[in-house]
Amino acid sequence: MSSTITSESIAFIFFFLYGSFCEWVFHKHLFHSPQFIKRTFNAHTVVHHQRYKYEPESYKWQEGQEKDHIAMDWFALPLFIGFHLPLFALFEHFTVWKCLWGGIAAITVYCFIYEYFHYCMHVPTGRLFERSPVFRFAKEHHRTHHKYMLQNLNVFSPLADLCLGTCRSPASVGRAGETSN
Ligand SMILES: [Zn+2]
Ligand SMILES: [Zn+2]
Repeated sequence: MSSTITSESIAFIFFFLYGSFCEWVFHKHLFHSPQFIKRTFNAHTVVHHQRYKYEPESYKWQEGQEKDHIAMDWFALPLFIGFHLPLFALFEHFTVWKCLWGGIAAITVYCFIYEYFHYCMHVPTGRLFERSPVFRFAKEHHRTHHKYMLQNLNVFSPLADLCLGTCRSPASVGRAGETSN
């Protein structure tokens, strides 16, 4: 029993870190390219990035604006789970690693954190959470993404950005001679 809990806990950590890479791929190829799914490209690149821009005033939601196109569609999480469930089950079947529930929990928690951070970034209300160093770092990291769309593709966990060479420091924005994206 305790070995199963340990195994699933390790799976949770492993697949939570994997979530950063999954988000990176998803953000780059489904949100910023019309190649695979036009609907996600339109919702994100055409609407979200046009409505919310780099400058602080346009980065945040304005009175009278729709609050749609900040969060993903409600069915995104069931789709992510539906996509990963058979993969985790196969993985568990062909290895001795009990990882299915840890993996599903990691995907679910990752999505909720992603959505909450992203929503608070664009709709700030002075929450205590917004003053935390982790949130302030993530907020500037994502604000930079709203200027350089193919950089800083992670919202709250820049692991994949760091590993895949797309991490851009907010301090570097606006240096002479650079153009957006
Ligand atoms: Zn955004
Ligand atoms: Zn984007």
